[in-house]
Amino acid sequence: MERYRIIDCHCDTLCELIKQGKELQEGDVCVSLPKMKANTSYLQFFALFVHDNEETPFRRANDLMAVYKRQLQLFQSDLVPVLNSRDAETVISGKKTGAMLTLENGRSLEGNIQNLYYFYEHGARAMGLTWNGANELCDGIGIPNGRGLTDFGREVVSAMNQLGMLVDVSHISEKGFWDVLEESSQPVMATHSNSRSVCRHKRNLTDKQIHALALQGGVIGLNLFPEFLSDGKTAGWEDCAHHIRHIISVGGEDCIGLGSDFDGFPEPMPVGINGAEDYGFLFDKLKENGLSAQQIEKITYKNVLNLIKTILK
Ligand SMILES: [Zn+2]
Repeated sequence: MERYRIIDCHCDTLCELIKQGKELQEGDVCVSLPKMKANTSYLQFFALFVHDNEETPFRRANDLMAVYKRQLQLFQSDLVPVLNSRDAETVISGKKTGAMLTLENGRSLEGNIQNLYYFYEHGARAMGLTWNGANELCDGIGIPNGRGLTDFGREVVSAMNQLGMLVDVSHISEKGFWDVLEESSQPVMATHSNSRSVCRHKRNLTDKQIHALALQGGVIGLNLFPEFLSDGKTAGWEDCAHHIRHIISVGGEDCIGLGSDFDGFPEPMPVGINGAEDYGFLFDKLKENGLSAQQIEKITYKNVLNLIKTILK
């Protein structure tokens, strides 16, 4: 099995570590330190995920952030904290393992822009504006006829542009998606979403969305949750191939990356893919299936690294 340089733009591993009371080295998680190290180099975005019905979202995000910071402390010789494009470059070209802090659900800000600056100060470099429900910024995709950005949502997008943070539109309502594309002065990411033409789940993006996001220089991270990969009962590398080929046909080969959603969805896992250690298996299969070495390089890290270089200060 070949090894690859990987940037994975979404996982919920911090939630799982809290639940298990374990650390990144020994936790029973899809993204553990040994599993990351099975790749040539590996950069993982770690999300502070806050549920829509969390009553104290700012506090919950802080509890998760404490776990993140403890991992950086415990494994400082193994895990490089990524705060800017130079750090990301160091991880990828230096064959290291790195971590970037992100937020999932703008509800953590509790309607206060100062909290965005607070999380940025603590290292957060991307934020998913919503989860599936409504929050102070916008509605999520789970709300029928969901509303678009609120005034506060617009303020947050513009502040993120100025700070140099990646604006993440996975989970957002369709109206919100178009508002963000209009509002943002920078390309945006859908860190963990697939193609709705290939798998009809509402969390996936329509061709129109993929085309528009790609046109602005944005990137879509391939989600490995079987429900988002396939309308059937199971999913495997073949479904990943369908999504990748379709997204390339709609948005070109510079708009696709990885955002596994590892540790954020229930079993069964996609066939043959149990965690960060199995990217080798996946991309060996995709190569046999006809993806070129250049395309694989773009998907595994180059497209996201370019976006990081464009956006992070
Ligand atoms: Zn998510």
